[in-house]
Amino acid sequence: MKKLAIFGSTGSIGTQALEVVSEFPDLFKIEALSADNNWKLLAEQAIRFNPSTVAIADSGAFNALRKAVPKHIEVLAGLSSITEIAHYPSIETVLNAIVGFAGLLPTIHAAKAGKNIALANKESLVIGGEFIMQLTRESKSQITPIDSEHAAIFQCLQGEENNTVEKVYLTASGGPFLDYPLNKLKQVSVADALKHPSWKMGKKISIDSATMLNKGFEMIGAQWLFNLKPNQLEVLIHPQSVVHSMVQFTDGSIKAQLGPTDMRLPILYALSYPNRLSTTYNRLNFLDYPELEFSKPNMALFQNLQLAIEAMKKGGNMPLVLNAANEVAVDAFLQERIKFSEIAHINETILAKTSYLSQPAPEDYILLHREAVKMTLALIG
Ligand code: NDP
Repeated sequence: MKKLAIFGSTGSIGTQALEVVSEFPDLFKIEALSADNNWKLLAEQAIRFNPSTVAIADSGAFNALRKAVPKHIEVLAGLSSITEIAHYPSIETVLNAIVGFAGLLPTIHAAKAGKNIALANKESLVIGGEFIMQLTRESKSQITPIDSEHAAIFQCLQGEENNTVEKVYLTASGGPFLDYPLNKLKQVSVADALKHPSWKMGKKISIDSATMLNKGFEMIGAQWLFNLKPNQLEVLIHPQSVVHSMVQFTDGSIKAQLGPTDMRLPILYALSYPNRLSTTYNRLNFLDYPELEFSKPNMALFQNLQLAIEAMKKGGNMPLVLNAANEVAVDAFLQERIKFSEIAHINETILAKTSYLSQPAPEDYILLHREAVKMTLALIG
C-alpha cells in the first residue's frame, strides 16, 4: 500500500486523483488531504477516505471542518500545516495539486523530506525549479509529473538514461482562441475564456491555457524537470490534443506519448510509476483522428507565451515575477475588472518594471512574489 497525501484534494486534479485512488483500494491509502477553504468537500472526502490528517489553509474554516470531520482524524489549519504534513514519516508520496504560488512551499518541503512528489503544481517549477531539482537530488526525492505534457516527456525518457535529448516538442491545443483575430480578444468574456476545447480544468489554468501562458510555464517546468536548455524546447499547436508531447534524440528518432484527453491517466502513472496499472478508461481510436495537425503558435496572438519564453531565457527572478503578475491579472479578469487582452499587457509591464536578479535566493521567493503582487495590484488599481 502506497501512503499518500493529496494537497489541493478539492480541486480539479485533486478530485480526479481521489477517483483514481478509489479504483485501486488495495494499492493506495490516503494519509492526508488538504484544501484552501472548501471545508465541506474536504470533510466529505475525509469521511470517505478516512485519512489520519486533514488540513485547511484558511484558518477561518477550521472550526467548521473540525465539527464536520470524525474525531479520530487530526485537523490542522494554515498553509504552514500543509508544509508540516509533507514531512510526516507515514507519507511516502505527496501529490501536489494546489494551484498557484501557494503550491511552492509544499513542493519544497516534500522535496526536502525526500518524498516522492506527484507534481501537478507547475508554478513551483516556474518559481523555484532549479532549487527544487537540487533539493530532490540531495534528498533522493523523485518527482513524477502529472501535467500531461510533462508526463508525456517523462514517459518518452524512460529507458533513455544514457542517450542525449536533442529537442523536446510540447504540444498545445491552442485553447479557445486559436483562430481568433487579435482585435477580437478584447471582447471575450470570462465564460468564453473558460471554455477549453479539450480539457476540463480549474479556472486559473483554463485562463492560462487561453492566453497560452500555461504552455510557457510548461516550457519553464520542462527545462528544470528534464535538464534542458531553452533552445531545446519548442511549442507546436496540435488542436486534436492526441499527442501529449514528443522527445527527439540525437540520432533523429522521435518518441511521442499519445492518449485520450483524460487527466486520470497521468495521475495514475505518477502514482503507480514505474508500473502501469490496468484500467477500463476510454482508449484512443486512431480512426477518429484521420488527420493530426501541427503548426507554429501565432506569437502576436499569444503574447503571454512570448513573455514566458523571454522570461525563461533571461531566468533569475523573471519567471517568478511573471507568475506573480499573472496570478493577480488572471484573478482580476475572472472578477471582470480587466479585459482578457490586458492580462498580457499587465504581465509585460510588471516584468519591465522589475529589477533583474540573476540568482534570487530561495529564502526571498516569498518576498519577491509579494512585491510583484503588490506592484501588479497597484497597476490594476
Ligand atoms: P483548482 O482550482 O481546481 O484546485 C486548486 C486546489 O488548490 C483546490 O483544492 C484549492 O482548495 C487548493 N488551493 C487553492 N489555493 C490554495 C491555497 N492558498 N492554499 C492551499 N490550497 C489552496 O486547480 P486545478 O486542479 O485545475 O490545478 C491544480 C494545479 O494543477 C495547478 O498548478 C495547475 O496548473 C495544474 N494542472 C492542472 C490540470 C487540470 O487538468 N486541472 C492539468 C495540468 C496541470 P479550495 O477548493 O478550498 O479552493
